[in-house]
Amino acid sequence: MTPSIAFIGVGNMASAIFSGMLANGYPATSIMGTSRTEQKRTHYHDQFGISMLADNRSAVSQADVIVLCVKPAQMQAVIEAFADQVRDDQLFISVAAGVELGSLSYWLNSPVAVVRCMPNTPSQVGAGMTGLIANEHTSAEQKNWVTELFAGIGDSVWVEDEAHMHTVTSLSGSAPAYFFRFLEAMIKDGQQQGLDEATCRKLASYTMLGAARMATELDEPIAQLRKNITSPNGTTEQALLSFEASNIDKIVADAMTACVNRSKEMS
Ligand code: NAD
Repeated sequence: MTPSIAFIGVGNMASAIFSGMLANGYPATSIMGTSRTEQKRTHYHDQFGISMLADNRSAVSQADVIVLCVKPAQMQAVIEAFADQVRDDQLFISVAAGVELGSLSYWLNSPVAVVRCMPNTPSQVGAGMTGLIANEHTSAEQKNWVTELFAGIGDSVWVEDEAHMHTVTSLSGSAPAYFFRFLEAMIKDGQQQGLDEATCRKLASYTMLGAARMATELDEPIAQLRKNITSPNGTTEQALLSFEASNIDKIVADAMTACVNRSKEMS
């Protein structure tokens, strides 16, 4: 039987996830969402055909799987308002950045399956990467179900140690912005060389997409992919030597350390 799923706090992330589910054939009749405003409830119901409720308690009581999509600062109050209704056979999934499994389990006040996720914004175009960790009450079958759920918006990886969620944040959660920043710099330089912005954006963005597809689809070390297009004394080599002169490894490592440190402060 298709599990009924409730999204608590429908906004950007919830709608990205259920769009992927619907595109993969999940029945709209098995998907509920909650929102505090009538306008949003009408909007999401009309656009996606899912049931939209005003009351989180009602949604939780009807669902097999509950996806918690409110902002981290709202999570405790939202969970505590329905915690008395939680059943042991339910599965809770939180997408809130930095909210740990221990806090979620404590607020739920029940020995129930809980999965914590760190998705990223490319999930809006079906190319997301989500880091996942489960608590000890989550079965292998439930983990498989969650893997399938996130396949609707891209791909996912499971980690075993919650400390690694900080690393996931620096490698995928925050990382789309690093690549946007790199693209901004490339586009700016292309414009300075005389090409228009739209052409520079197309050239650089498609190249990033193509390189990412090679990195994900070909079974060759990344360094080899780089060497394959770096002829001795050629143009690419000159660009890469310039990166090395600026100590690119240190620039990236410093940025990722700053990201991890902030993630630790916020959790
Ligand atoms: P959002 O503001 O678009 O959506 C949150 C929704 O929750 C809003 O529509 C808000 O009205 C609703 N809401 C707040 N309190 C509520 C309540 N008591 N009952 C019902 N609805 C309520 O935010 P978002 O970008 O979708 O982010 C949601 C969560 O996803 C956050 O916890 C964030 O940390 C996490 N997240 C988002 C991204 C991303 O790319 N957007 C990435 C990683 C993690």
